[in-house]
Amino acid sequence: MSGTVYLIGAGPGDPELLTLKAARLLAHADVVLHDALVSREVLALISPAAELIDVGKRAGRKLLTQDEINALLVSYAQTPGTVVRLKGGDPSIFGRAGEEIESLRKSGIPCEIVPGITAALGAAAAAGISLTDRRVASQILLTTFSRGTDGSVMEWGCVTSTTTLVLYMPSADYAEVSQRLLDGGLPADLPCVIVSNATGVSQELCWSNVGSLASDKKLPAPALLIVGRVASHEVQELSASFWDRSRKNLNPQRVSVI
Ligand code: SAH
Repeated sequence: MSGTVYLIGAGPGDPELLTLKAARLLAHADVVLHDALVSREVLALISPAAELIDVGKRAGRKLLTQDEINALLVSYAQTPGTVVRLKGGDPSIFGRAGEEIESLRKSGIPCEIVPGITAALGAAAAAGISLTDRRVASQILLTTFSRGTDGSVMEWGCVTSTTTLVLYMPSADYAEVSQRLLDGGLPADLPCVIVSNATGVSQELCWSNVGSLASDKKLPAPALLIVGRVASHEVQELSASFWDRSRKNLNPQRVSVI
């Protein structure tokens, strides 16, 4: 008999940002398979009697392959007790939850997602900005450069003058990130902010713009980049004329501005 596997979002770092449901399940779990991104403070809330398995993967130092993690989940689900798969942020955002859910389903194991606060929201809170500030933004694109097998692919078609871009896993090479944003047609003076360890004890921020990113101080991982007119201390001053002035830089083939 297999019990339900809980795919739980651990949030961006601050343990007080866990949902009540996540905290309750962690306190009663028998087995917890967790990522490297899950903060120590959140791990401390797990039942001391639980078996803790670090399946964390950090760039370059893979502990387990995704297939091995899927197989582990399935095998633990077939033992008695509550099994939790604990992921940083929200399990469904760049968390490979899809593959794990599929493996569980194929093995006839029920699973339930317990959402968490994704890093983009933790980072926006850390920066004290509104991702959809109605004066300058109408949509948010959560994205990454390091997706799938072809890391160079990024769909720019939906990026407009009122898009807030949130780049998960921006490479430590800010010069490359800056170049790719410029190649995508974003103006060099478009504001951005790098947020490292959002909501965690070692949180750091660096305010910049697309053109200057290359020369900015590198912040420790995990870090993400918020790009757009909201990423400024002075949103009010960034009126539409800012974009009109900057859009001469846009490559019309690649960015449609509406
Ligand atoms: N499922 C996670 C994202 C996993 S991908 C979520 O919903 O947040 C891992 C990437 O998320 C990191 O490389 C980094 O870009 C970002 N990230 C995760 N936690 C972060 C944090 N506390 N501060 C800044 N970025 C973070």
